[in-house]
Amino acid sequence: MRHVAIVGSGPAGYYSAEALQKAIGEEIRIDMIDRLPVPYGLIRFGVAPDHQSIKAVSKRYEKVALSPGVRFVGNVSVGDDVSIGDLLGLYDAVILATGAPLDRPLGVPGDDLPGVVGSAAFVGWYNGHPEFAGLAPPLDVDAAAVVGNGNVALDVARILSKTPAEFVGSDIVAHAFEALGNSRNRDIHVLGRRGPHQMQMTPKELGELGHLEDAVPHVDLADFPPAEADAALEPGLRKSVTHLRDFASLAKDKRKTIYFDFFARPVAIEGDGKAERVLVERTRLGEDGRAIGTGETYHVPAGLVVSCIGYKTPPVEGVPYEEDQGRFANRDGVIGEGLYCVGWARRGPTGTIGTNRPDGYEVAGKIAEALAGRGAGKEGGDGLDRLLAGRGAEVVGFDAWQRIEAAEAARARQGSPREKFVIVADMLEAARG
Ligand code: NAP
Repeated sequence: MRHVAIVGSGPAGYYSAEALQKAIGEEIRIDMIDRLPVPYGLIRFGVAPDHQSIKAVSKRYEKVALSPGVRFVGNVSVGDDVSIGDLLGLYDAVILATGAPLDRPLGVPGDDLPGVVGSAAFVGWYNGHPEFAGLAPPLDVDAAAVVGNGNVALDVARILSKTPAEFVGSDIVAHAFEALGNSRNRDIHVLGRRGPHQMQMTPKELGELGHLEDAVPHVDLADFPPAEADAALEPGLRKSVTHLRDFASLAKDKRKTIYFDFFARPVAIEGDGKAERVLVERTRLGEDGRAIGTGETYHVPAGLVVSCIGYKTPPVEGVPYEEDQGRFANRDGVIGEGLYCVGWARRGPTGTIGTNRPDGYEVAGKIAEALAGRGAGKEGGDGLDRLLAGRGAEVVGFDAWQRIEAAEAARARQGSPREKFVIVADMLEAARG
């Protein structure tokens, strides 16, 4: 028997488990360890609550979770309850699938003012991540700024723009649903440091902005290259740029406006003890395609600033880390003897959920190869259970997690699949039954 520990139960973790089962067959036992009492990482806490069709991929992970030989070991923190050394001693291979849940700092004066939040915190807040349940972002403001031109900035701008009726069918948590419903925010400025041709927002999601109930996107066509230049773009980006151009002709007859400010780089957040405005420098594209400041500045009013500029993987003691990339130091997913990484912890925070699949399969193949023909495997889960019991850890296994799920479904608002618990103690109470 081979024993593998996967740390992190998000998409990268579950694709790796699925791949290991395919590569090694019945001779494998897998423990999915998560610091929270519930699995699915980015699916539960990152994917927007109004994008339930994307969240449906968790059905595929559930199949793996239900299969014999796979255990969920929730409420166990690697670094606190167990060390990487412990895991390497107990398992034939350890895969770090810990994602990239830390915000990259904006790094401009004033970025520590109240009212400036990173997307991990803001997205975690509306998705019910226990760490950010108490964030209370200021929504009693007229204007907000969203920094970045990727899909996370797009998610944040859309969530800020929707009416309560547009959240029907979503699993947005109650505190965010209420706060957003009571918000007097009218202007949302999306600040991109480069132009429409350099944006990373994908067309399907961008197109949604043109159909909101009470908000309308606004672009300035002066920011765009001549329309003929769109032909050279790859098809996805070309479609996104077409959506942007179409936004220009939409009637501006709604309560909220989502302003796309291109060539706009935040250089400071200003305000009297809290964020009130962003000082923005106009940029132009350099020869190398990067944004170059022009020295010309202007102010954008913003009592809330959400920076959506990328993430970092949290370092783990004893694991080599690439500070500048914000991920584990690895070669094609291999960190060292018996230690691997997948997903954003391996590559950095890029790519869709599906991008994690080939990652998981590649690393599972390497593990299968490394373990083939080796003698008896290590002790695995029995040893972990003993160690955790000795340390007084309260482990949440599959059945206990199912009790949390059932309790969340029972608490759901009408039209919502669940009302998530946002405090770990409440999850644990539900887990105990
Ligand atoms: P991203 O796509 O890499 O976008 C990051 C944005 O931040 C870029 O526009 C970047 O501009 C900008 N930026 C970086 N540093 C900045 C700075 N110092 N000042 C101003 N702007 C700065 O990352 P993301 O939006 O966090 O998304 C992460 C991944 O998740 C992506 O692959 C994304 O597609 C995926 N995702 C998908 C969905 C979906 O619905 N399909 C939803 C959410 C996330 P430059 O281009 O100039 O560097």
